Order: sequence, then C-alpha cells, then structure tokens
Amino acid sequence: MSKQRDFVLRTIEERGVRFVRLWFTDVAGTLKSVALAPAEVEGAFSEGLGFDGSAIEGLTRAYESDLLALPDPSTFQLLPWRSSTEPTARMFCDLTTPNGEPAAADPRNVLKRTLARAADRGFSFYIHPEIEFYLLKSGEFGPEGPVPVDRAGYFDNVPGGTAHDFRRESVNMLEELGISVEFSHHEAGPGQNEIDLRYADALTMADNIMTFRTVVKEVAIGQGVYATFMPKPLAGQPGSGMHAHMSLFEGDTNAFYDAGAKHQLSQTGRRFVAGLLRHAPEFTAVTNQYVNSYKRLWGGDEAPSYVSWGHLNRSALVRVPIYKPGKGSSARVEYRAMDSAANPYLAFSVLLAAGLKGIDEEYELPPEAEHSMGALSDGERRAMGFDPLPSSLDHALAVMERSELVAETLGEQVFSYLIREKRQEVAAYRQQVTPFELSSMLGTV
Ligand code: GLU
Ligand code: MG
Ligand code: MG
Repeated sequence: MSKQRDFVLRTIEERGVRFVRLWFTDVAGTLKSVALAPAEVEGAFSEGLGFDGSAIEGLTRAYESDLLALPDPSTFQLLPWRSSTEPTARMFCDLTTPNGEPAAADPRNVLKRTLARAADRGFSFYIHPEIEFYLLKSGEFGPEGPVPVDRAGYFDNVPGGTAHDFRRESVNMLEELGISVEFSHHEAGPGQNEIDLRYADALTMADNIMTFRTVVKEVAIGQGVYATFMPKPLAGQPGSGMHAHMSLFEGDTNAFYDAGAKHQLSQTGRRFVAGLLRHAPEFTAVTNQYVNSYKRLWGGDEAPSYVSWGHLNRSALVRVPIYKPGKGSSARVEYRAMDSAANPYLAFSVLLAAGLKGIDEEYELPPEAEHSMGALSDGERRAMGFDPLPSSLDHALAVMERSELVAETLGEQVFSYLIREKRQEVAAYRQQVTPFELSSMLGTV
C-alpha cells in the first residue's frame, strides 16, 4: 500500500468522509463523477472501479465497453461546497481496460503520453492559464439573448455587485482545494470575469481546470446566478478565452530563458513558438472545439484570428510577455487562441506536441508581428505571411483531418471520434435558420 493511498484511507476514516467521488473527463471535456461508499475505496485503489465506457461520450467502442477507473491518490481533496459534517471528497482517475492497459480514449492518458514524450527529451511542461467566463442572470433571456449580471467592464470595481462576492468565494474555495489563484478581476464584457491560476505542471493544471469549472458553477448556483464558459455567449461582446502561458523546464532551469537573446527568448523557446505557429491551424479544432468558438476567434476584441507572434502585440496568436529582469524562471510564451470551453487535457497535448515538433525539427521562427493584425489589409497580411486561423469549425476539421501531428498525438480513437462528433455538430448547425437571416431577409427578399 503506497503512502499516498494510506493517507487517503486514513483521512476518510478520521474526517468521517461519507462519499468519495471518482472524477474523470470524457473526450468532449465534460467532467464525469461516480460516488463511492468509503468502504469501497481500498478496492478501487487495488482493482479499479468497473463501468460501462460505451455509455460515455467517446470513451470506447461498444464492442469493448468495459473500463476501469483507477483513482489517483495524489488528487484526493475534500469538496468545500459539500457539508462539513458529512464531508464529500474527490479523486481524479486514470482509465484502463480490464487487462490494465491505459484506455486509448482517456484524455488524461493522452496528456500523460504526450508529457512522457517531453520527459524523454528532458523537459517538464508548465502552464498558467487565464480563464475568462461570464456570469449571467439565472433563467433570464432577453431580446439579445442571455442577461449578464452587471454592466461593468475591464478591472471595474463594482460596489455591491455580484462579481466581487462571487470571485471572493470562488477564490477561497479554490485555495481550499489546493489550487492557488494569482489574479481575479472583472473582464471587458458585462458580467465577464477572469481568474488566473498559479502555474503548475500540465497534468495538475488540466485537473485543476476541471475542478475550477465545477467550483465556479457551484458558487454561481449558490449565489443565484449562472456561470458559463461558452466561448461567445453575447453577440457584440468579447468572448471568453483561456490564454495559456507555457514553459518548458529542464530540471530547475527554464528552457525558454536566455538572458542575452532578443526578448530573452532562448533558441528552444523560439523553436517551440515556431512549432505552435506552423501547426496552429491543424489543432484549432481541439483548442476551439465548438461552432460557437469561431464567433469569438473572428469577433475581434483581442481574440486572435491570424497566425503571428509578437511581444507586446495582443492581436498576435502567440505573445512573448516581458518578465522582470532577473526573473528568468518566469520566461514563458502565451498562446491566445484557446477558449474556455476546450478540453484542457487534449488542448495541452496538442500545444505541447506542436512545440516539441518545432524543437525536434529545428523550425525557424518567422519575423515578429509589430502591427495590430486588425490594422493591416488582407493583402498586407498575406504579403507578411500572416495566415488566417480556420474561420469555422467545419474549416478547422478539414485542416485537422489531414494532420499527422494531431492524429499521432490524440491517438486514432480520440482523433476519429472528434472528427465524427464535430462534423455532426457542424451538420446540425447548418440546418438552422437563424434570427439574423429572418430579420435581414424577410420583407426584403
Ligand atoms: N477576451 C479576450 C479573448 O477572447 C481576451 C482579452 C484579454 O486580453 O484578456 O481572448
Ligand atoms: Mg483576459
Ligand atoms: Mg493574456
């Protein structure tokens, strides 16, 4: 019995834990949960908990449906929004087949596999995300769609507003769950908020993001409002991005840092960024996986639409932020296209794989974008080599389908599942006749 398992079993006993939830994520990025009686936890550690994987989106093919969930004891936490007299705890799980093979379609396993490839090259991968989301009035739907809880904007201090209490309670809960928060503030859209998590290794961070979404939704329900991570819930307002600040470490050394280089970005860092840029159109269907995602990407408001990198330029797809002198350990690059509804396990996998490819193949970093992308004409952008990102999910899938890098990274099962599922979403969307068409055409055509 490992020490960590021991600790979990002892804590369950000492704290009188009533339920232990086993958590995992389906291919679409939805959190799944099954509650165990405390007496079952020891068995789940040694044998796993069996369930019918074919009932869960994308996990198995129907003819090989049995899966086991193996709880990871290092992720054991009490859930602060549940009763303290009868506490509930949770652990994230790895999914395996009945003979102990990692399940091909478990997103956590896809990320572990990609991290192992980085580790083969001596790298560990760290992420600090900025997570944007909207707070909406529960159950209200106005002529313009959902109704945000306030009319405030970027960094606004809203006296007596929902957002303050909301952020305070969410941040407290996250900290109780061992997730450190760096900043939280009102974002540019009405009702839009942002919470930035302190960097962690990518696997911990993907778990943290799944927990984060649950916490934010729980706190919102508790305060009588509704939280959404939808990429573009309000037409004409900014979308919700999940900018990912990424770094590779070799031991204790930040591999992106070189004190003497331009923007202090090392050769490894430059190649990593070049990999992101070259492969971005191929993996956009993973980082931006909904029809709605493309209304954010192409909706302005600081969401990137073109493949470029820059230093201070917030219209760039990849930004190399400034760090304080002497803070080489915080050297990082920011990928700005991903949205708040991405499956973090799969998205971090494709980002890392693209960066590693740039390093392996020694890609050359193209020139930096000094202008705002929006200020250039199409012709100028073309002449400067700033290609567009896919403009729709349909287009993104067509590009992804031809990508060896994405197929290899996700594995055949996840790759073909995503293409199939997402094509269905595109087909269902295509059948809609929208209010826009009706109001612009009825009466004139
Ligand atoms: N909300 C913007 C987006 O969709 C980002 C704004 C910012 O730079 O924080 O990516
Ligand atoms: Mg922001
Ligand atoms: Mg940012």
